[in-house]
Amino acid sequence: MAAAIDSKSLLEHQDPDQVEDEWGPAINHNPSPFAIGDVLLYTVFVGSFFGGLHFYGERFWSYILATYPKPAIILGGTFIVSEVGFWFWVSLLAILDLYQFPKSFWRYKIQPLKVPTREWYERALWVVLQNQFLVGVPTGFLMYYLMEWRGNPIGMEFPTIYDLAKESIGFLVIEELGFYYGHRLFHHPRLYKRFHKQHHLYTAPIGIAAIYCHPLEHFMCNLAPLLLGPIVMKSHVLTLWLWITIGQTNAINSHCGFQLPLFPSPLAHDYHHERFNVNYGPVGVLDWLHNTAGSRAVAEEKKRLRDAEAKKAKMETEKGQQVKN
Ligand SMILES: [Zn+2]
Ligand SMILES: [Zn+2]
Repeated sequence: MAAAIDSKSLLEHQDPDQVEDEWGPAINHNPSPFAIGDVLLYTVFVGSFFGGLHFYGERFWSYILATYPKPAIILGGTFIVSEVGFWFWVSLLAILDLYQFPKSFWRYKIQPLKVPTREWYERALWVVLQNQFLVGVPTGFLMYYLMEWRGNPIGMEFPTIYDLAKESIGFLVIEELGFYYGHRLFHHPRLYKRFHKQHHLYTAPIGIAAIYCHPLEHFMCNLAPLLLGPIVMKSHVLTLWLWITIGQTNAINSHCGFQLPLFPSPLAHDYHHERFNVNYGPVGVLDWLHNTAGSRAVAEEKKRLRDAEAKKAKMETEKGQQVKN
């Protein structure tokens, strides 16, 4: 079943019954909120972070501290970490989307009827750059002043794994609260059209579309919940950079359109783009609490039960009519 893919298809809702095409059946939602991919992603990033600190930290960091002034380290470092992290993943995904390389990964496409085009990327690029420079850079300055006010450390006393474990709880709680309620607010009918509709243009999202949104939404939903955690928890600037890297990777993965092996499951947020009124949060706890969680597998199961009931009712009516006759 080949579907015509043009810019118009971006705006159409996908028929949930259209789950099969040349790429094979769409994959089902993994019901476990803490899948192996989440654990692996954290392990790889945290392991590389502490490994790097152990082997090169002292030499590298003492050079940085001796060479650059503090504002340049915090502002410049945060900018470099954010940009490199973002474009690294987005470039790899663009090769996968536009050149279909590696081809074997296409079996993991979540909405296989919607094949990303160059136009999808071009449309996102300008908005993404505006958000990075006109919203991201001023927010970096605001973050710098808040970190100065809170007294976030920057010195040679590196964070320990215990510090990171303790601070991560704060990061996750603030991210979940900030993103869930901010995002849900933007779904309010009075705000949706003006602000959040733009982000929902991609009903089958792509990695770069993670920050394809209105500038106010980028600040309130993407930047503030991510950066507030390390400010509130008085984290070391190196921990802030680790958290930005993990947060951005997660956001891009949630929009990448592929459920790749060994990566966290992006199905919940992908399904939000497809269906709009489910899965508002990044972690899933508030969706569970507010009964806003949803998945294609559950929707399909409900449909199967509905169809079975309808079939049964129809058979009973037919039987009744036969008895009458
Ligand atoms: Zn999204
Ligand atoms: Zn939304």
